[in-house]
Amino acid sequence: MSGDDKLTFRLEPHAAPVPADERATRLVSPGFGRVFTDHMAVVRYSEDRGWHDARIQARAPLELDPAAAVLHYAQEIFEGMKAYRLEDGGTALFRPEANARRFRQSAERMAMAQLPEDIFLESVRRLVEIDRAWIPGGDGGSLYLRPFMFASETFLGVRPAKEYLYLVIASAAGAYFNGTGNAGITLWVSDNFTRAAPGGTGAAKCGGNYAASLQAQAEAIAHGCDQVVFVDAAERRWVEELGGMNIFFVFDDGTLATPPLTGTILPGITRDSLLTLARAGGLTVREEPYALDQWRADAASGRLVEAFACGTAAVVTSIGRVRGADGEFTIGNGVAGQTTERLRSELVAIQRGHAPDPHGWVHRLF
Ligand SMILES: *Cc1c(COP(=O)(O)O)cnc(C)c1O
Repeated sequence: MSGDDKLTFRLEPHAAPVPADERATRLVSPGFGRVFTDHMAVVRYSEDRGWHDARIQARAPLELDPAAAVLHYAQEIFEGMKAYRLEDGGTALFRPEANARRFRQSAERMAMAQLPEDIFLESVRRLVEIDRAWIPGGDGGSLYLRPFMFASETFLGVRPAKEYLYLVIASAAGAYFNGTGNAGITLWVSDNFTRAAPGGTGAAKCGGNYAASLQAQAEAIAHGCDQVVFVDAAERRWVEELGGMNIFFVFDDGTLATPPLTGTILPGITRDSLLTLARAGGLTVREEPYALDQWRADAASGRLVEAFACGTAAVVTSIGRVRGADGEFTIGNGVAGQTTERLRSELVAIQRGHAPDPHGWVHRLF
């Protein structure tokens, strides 16, 4: 560690950014993860120099040696966050310090250099500043920010790398699960695959966790489902989370439950925010294990009335049906319930500056 937290970003603006009319065309219906902005943030790390060479520069392909450690041993982590346009024309991030902290924690688990949180925040702020024209107008639009870091050292020996490249790219985003309307998504319970084992990397936001989830996700699609839901690796009994979203259950007595952070699930910032909102709204929320069998039984008896998934990209998504090798069950009447809708709109209203922000979550940039 160099302790050089006072890095300044050198600004090298794009020589030929996308013209305004072409940008407007691309922003009409951006979908997710396809429409990228003009710039990116880059910071380098080496063991001898620490964090250095910070820039905001034209978005461009990277040049990597084929022996770059990440290509072999997968030292890679990322974050996902959004910049929103506020009612008054300002621009804000939602709880970016939480992303900065989690990024450092993910780095620690993957034996990578830990980026100081103020450099993380500055990189994001500077990129949004220069590319703010890429935030789509209209309902549900946002600029999705993807900070990430990987082992760039040219070396095939197995040990933590001594060089890392940290970048932030940005992508215009519309609403995520387009077209489902009020209907809930259908989940596939994977029998064959688990996502994360005790002592593993389940709580780190690393690309490897996603690689491990893709075959299960493909299985979900093959069975006509939208997303996979994982059970725990040890007992194959406890509901954990989706491939990239946490999960909540709503009961007929008005209480909520979500699986606890035991190291095998990702500590979602949306999850944490919803816990806080629910408790502030007088609801009882338990962070406790919930068994798949119990889920099925509670859905059948009517004790379980709603379930939803949550994460930065899709915010809150209602779960309508759960399918597995031994059949299917429906939750409530299969559409978004009252509590799900209320929590979703409360959170979105705070994020967009339509409601007061009692927890100090909205980080106004400009
Ligand atoms: C990012 C992520 C989430 C959601 O986290 P948020 O901070 O709410 O976006 C949930 N599960 C996994 C596996 C994730 O990678």
